[in-house]
Amino acid sequence: MASKEAEFITGDLVLEDELILQVGGVYAPAQGDRVIDGTAHIVIPGLINGHTHLPMTLLRNCADDMDLFTWLNDHIWPREEKHTPETILWGSYLGLLELIQSGVTTFSDMYFMQEQTIAAVLQSGIGAHIGATIMGNEGETRKRLPMLRELHASWQGAQGGRIRIDVAPHAIYTCDAQTLRIAAELTEEFDTAMHIHVSETAKEQDDALGAHGMTPLAYLDSLGVLQVPVYAAHGVFFTPGDINLCRDKKVSVIHNPSSNLKLGNGCAPIHELQQSGVSVGLGTDGASSNNNLNMMEEMHLTSLIHKGWLADPRLLNAYQVLAMATREGARALFRDDIGTLEPGKRADIVMVSTESPHMTPLLNPVAALVYSAQSSDISRVFSSGRAVYESGDFTTLDKEKICAEAESCARALQ
Ligand SMILES: [Zn+2]
Repeated sequence: MASKEAEFITGDLVLEDELILQVGGVYAPAQGDRVIDGTAHIVIPGLINGHTHLPMTLLRNCADDMDLFTWLNDHIWPREEKHTPETILWGSYLGLLELIQSGVTTFSDMYFMQEQTIAAVLQSGIGAHIGATIMGNEGETRKRLPMLRELHASWQGAQGGRIRIDVAPHAIYTCDAQTLRIAAELTEEFDTAMHIHVSETAKEQDDALGAHGMTPLAYLDSLGVLQVPVYAAHGVFFTPGDINLCRDKKVSVIHNPSSNLKLGNGCAPIHELQQSGVSVGLGTDGASSNNNLNMMEEMHLTSLIHKGWLADPRLLNAYQVLAMATREGARALFRDDIGTLEPGKRADIVMVSTESPHMTPLLNPVAALVYSAQSSDISRVFSSGRAVYESGDFTTLDKEKICAEAESCARALQ
């Protein structure tokens, strides 16, 4: 699928080192080239998961069926205090298995003890935006600044540009005004983007209106935060004014439908955002509010809920949803090197088998990918030209060891 309008090309796809060399046509392989038979496969760009909290895989299914604030205060935050570098590492590995298995080659994460997650990402071979996470008041934030600057200095652009360090203030209800201003300054200093939760719940919205007389996004704008590129996770309660702000400032949105539904928050105005020209990507959020990191499932859900929510089957068609996980997901993270299959782009490739009964007949490949495919149809994943998943096997990660270690780490957090 090439950029501009989604387009299907039949022919050879040629990768050279980390990049795509040729899309379509016939290529005569040279000696030493590896040739993979793509018969009965659809090849798509590596998927982009724009909002995760990777080590939360260890908190999967520990607390369900409750609202965000009860879930955070009574169940998640007390357990997160018990995290050690070891639990973060194995939780990250576990998340990477899930990401790769569902075709993800780039994700954006917000958590802490980030060096552990980076170590796991480096071994996995896929790409990541790692959040320099910020929570608390100005004093706490200023104390953490040297650590955040060191994180950026050590890892920005690592692994051939696959690792990016973004600035990630958690939300307006966990960061005070001065902290949010510092986060914006740091984003400018790092010349990167900001990743933040915005308008996830009715309570966040009501509290902002009560305390500041404006919506969470308008409040961020009033602090000058929207002067830097921002990708906002959720936006469930975005108003028409918020949508205009997204359009007029450099604000993109990451839609996390599973998490928004599971926590009973509702459904973000994605159609309106897209109509206004705002870039919207897709994310899974953390594995304990989803409860998996399966981007194929997230695409499927996205394709359905807006039609049902707004009683209009024309909304968010299969092309638009596939774009949200690829081309638009890249735009939402302010990336121009990933998200499409074009010469010169990073060779992030997913091969989806079309041989299963639910992929037959193959009358419309895009509809098949979004409405019918399962992540088990993914046969190969390449990240920067390197195979990270082939025929059910992880080539960079030890699945059995990771699952065993993650199981015991999860028990230690209970
Ligand atoms: Zn989140």
